Amino acid sequence: MSNFAFFWFRRDLRLHDNAGLYFALNTFKQIIPVFIFDTHILNSLANKQDPRVEFICARLREMNEQLKAAGSSLFVYTGSPVEVWKKILAEYPGCAVYANEDYEPDTLKRDRQVAKFLSSRGVASFFLRDQVIFAPQDILKDDKTPYTVFTAYKRKWLQKFNLDRCEPLPIDDLFAKFYRCRPRPVPDLTSLGFIKTGYQFPTTKIDPKVIINYHKTRDYPAQPGTSRLGMHLRFGTVSVRELVQLALDLNDTWLNELIWREFFMMILYHFPHVVHHSFRPVYDGIAWRNDEKDFTRWCDGLTGYPMVDAGMRELNATGFMHNRARMITASFLSKHLLIDWRMGERYFAAKLLDYELAANNGNWQWAAGTGCDAVPYFRIFNPALQQKRFDPDFAYIKKWLPEFGSKDYPQPIIDHNLARARAIAVYKQALQK
Ligand SMILES: Cc1cc2nc3c(=O)[nH]c(=O)nc-3n(C[C@H](O)[C@H](O)[C@H](O)COP(=O)(O)OP(=O)(O)OC[C@H]3O[C@@H](n4cnc5c(N)ncnc54)[C@H](O)[C@@H]3O)c2cc1C
Repeated sequence: MSNFAFFWFRRDLRLHDNAGLYFALNTFKQIIPVFIFDTHILNSLANKQDPRVEFICARLREMNEQLKAAGSSLFVYTGSPVEVWKKILAEYPGCAVYANEDYEPDTLKRDRQVAKFLSSRGVASFFLRDQVIFAPQDILKDDKTPYTVFTAYKRKWLQKFNLDRCEPLPIDDLFAKFYRCRPRPVPDLTSLGFIKTGYQFPTTKIDPKVIINYHKTRDYPAQPGTSRLGMHLRFGTVSVRELVQLALDLNDTWLNELIWREFFMMILYHFPHVVHHSFRPVYDGIAWRNDEKDFTRWCDGLTGYPMVDAGMRELNATGFMHNRARMITASFLSKHLLIDWRMGERYFAAKLLDYELAANNGNWQWAAGTGCDAVPYFRIFNPALQQKRFDPDFAYIKKWLPEFGSKDYPQPIIDHNLARARAIAVYKQALQK
């Protein structure tokens, strides 16, 4: 049996406080660090100017530099994961593959296929808990069924956390265990079939003042009042263990948001039908209007409702949208325009730098009223009142809608009261079926 193993990076692109990597380095004499550009995923991205692929390439190059300094290199491949593992094992007969767990239905399937293949070659595979404090199976009700209400889930999460604290896992002293080899290249964007976008990616630097004041500032989209770490949590360029420690020290409201993240991952894991259907099946009976012209005006930020339009323009220009605006735009699409939440969800999925299936799906269903623990269908955000409360001096609106207040800005696509009454009637009808 050889004495080296592999660590397979996926959504954990960091060389510090990484659970799978920590256990691999502590168990084996040498570790070959591997990343695979999965062609199923690359091919599914319709837009070849996708900043997220650019972000991954840049991050892999940074990691490669760190590994180079330690006399090692990242081994980067492109292809279908099982085929790539066949190729790797033919060249490097390691005896184990370590990776971190992923809880999305498609990735679970992929990991099962890879584990089966590896086992057929006598190679063990180990998947560790890393991107969450508690995996979906860790927090269950006393009767072992999953929670569907956030406050009850959170209570159990905090109880368990107090008993079972997760400490950061240092690997700095283990760098000598990376496989010694000449540096290998990380493919550039063009060779992957993608084009540079020039997007500005958020930094991993955290301003403690933002976290300390989070509960006071997080709802005002014109203020830099949130962490902007979503993309880094998505790709694992920060460690959730470190963030939870920071949240415990600085702000409970921010901790709450990190728990919401795990709540929606848990929902997706236990109720995978939510990917294509409403969490509550009765809502699949809603008679959506799905008007194409209305949808295009929503996408382009031309509905004549400034809070909605500012949010959509922010998203289109930067790949980010403030959470308050995400709630308003999602509610507006599903309730005011009666457009199937899945169309909006897909639009966000294509555009958000921090796009994450569990959080996007969970929050869309929350806003559309079709999800677990969701806004009741008859509670309909009034965009004008939202503006008065959360953008009282129009700072956010003016930033994203330069033509606001001029004749170039469109008239409202629909009257608010009319839309509200129509949505309530249509949702009610579905519930009566
Ligand atoms: C319709 C809609 C779609 C959304 N889609 C996504 C998505 O694809 N990916 C995503 O990470 N978040 C999504 N969110 C949740 C939230 O809007 C973003 O996490 C947040 O705006 C990101 O900004 P931030 O990094 O500054 O987060 P902060 O406000 O600083 O929060 C810290 C982290 O906590 C997590 N978080 C915060 N709020 C939520 C929440 N409501 N649900 C789950 N996790 C949360 C995120 O990981 C976030 O980065 C969505 C919300 C709505 C209403």
